Amino acid sequence: MKPDLEFDPRLVEEAVSLALKGLARKHPFHREREKVYAVVDPEERDRAFRDIHSRWFQKLGLANSVRRAIQEGGDALSSVSRWLIAGAISVRQSGSELFVAEGTRRSVVVRILPATLADGAQALPFFRRELLYIADMLDSAFEYQPRLPSSPLGPPEDRRVQDRYSVLWRCSVEGRLVRNGALPMECRTRCLAQFRILFSSLGNRTKECFDRIFRGPRPLHSVFVALATEPEVAFGLQRRSASRRRASRCPLCGFPTTDFEPGARDLPFLVSRAIRLDFPGWKAEMGLCRQCADVYRVLSSRMTRGVPCAPPPV
Ligand SMILES: [Zn+2]
Repeated sequence: MKPDLEFDPRLVEEAVSLALKGLARKHPFHREREKVYAVVDPEERDRAFRDIHSRWFQKLGLANSVRRAIQEGGDALSSVSRWLIAGAISVRQSGSELFVAEGTRRSVVVRILPATLADGAQALPFFRRELLYIADMLDSAFEYQPRLPSSPLGPPEDRRVQDRYSVLWRCSVEGRLVRNGALPMECRTRCLAQFRILFSSLGNRTKECFDRIFRGPRPLHSVFVALATEPEVAFGLQRRSASRRRASRCPLCGFPTTDFEPGARDLPFLVSRAIRLDFPGWKAEMGLCRQCADVYRVLSSRMTRGVPCAPPPV
C-alpha cells in the first residue's frame, strides 16, 4: 500500500514562490495569479490560489526529492502509513518526528525550510538524512528510546549529553550516507568540526574516535548514550574506575583535570548557591575544578550585588 504523502499548503505556497522568484511578470504563473485577484469571495479566492500553487508545485517537481528519499528507504520505511511535510521557520526547527499511534500505524512529520524544498539540490540530501534517522528509530535492532536518561548533575549536564548524542547520531547517519554515495564527502568535514567541539576531552584521539562513528557500523542507541555520557570511558580511552574517580573530571565543565579546587567543601554559601542554580544536582563532595570555582566566585559576587537583601560585598 502506498503511504499518504501530504504537504502543508503554506509550505507549498512559499516553496513555489521561492522556486519561481525573479521570473518575468508575463510568466504563466504570474498571469494565473493575477486573474485570481478578480475573484470577490475571499474563500473562493484562497482556494483558487491554493490550486495554482499546488499545480505549480507538481509541475516544478518539488515533491520529487521526498518521494525519491522514501523510495530509497525501501523496507526500512514501509511501516510509515502517513508522511506530512510542513514548513520550518529556522534551521533549528527543521527535522523529523515519528509518531506511533495505536496498533502499527506510524506517521512521520518532516519540517523543512521552504528555501531548502525549493532547491532540489538541497532538498534531496536533507530528506535522505532525515529519513535515515526515521529508519533507525523504526529498526528494532537499534533499540531506540525517545528519552535520554537524566543526569544527577541536573539540566546543564542533560543538555551536554543531549548535544553529544545528537552529534554522534548525525555523524553515524551522514557517514553511512557518504559511504553509499548519497551525500557528498564534504559532509565529513562539517561533522568532524562539530564532533571536535563537543568531544574535545578526547584530546589527540578525537579524530580516531570520530572515524569509528563516521566510518563504522551504526552503534545501538544505548551505545550512543554511553558515548555521550562518558566519552573517554565509552571510547575505551580510560578505565571506568579511573574516570569515576572524582579526581579526573570536573563535574561542572566536564573536562578532565588534575587541578581540583582544594576548598570545595568550604566554599562560601553564595558560591555554592550560584553553582546549584546552574547544576541543581551538584554536591560539595563531587568537587569541581579550580577554574569553575573561580568562575562561580565571580558570578556569586555579581549576584550578591544584584540581590537587595544580601549583605554588601566586602
Ligand atoms: Zn570545571
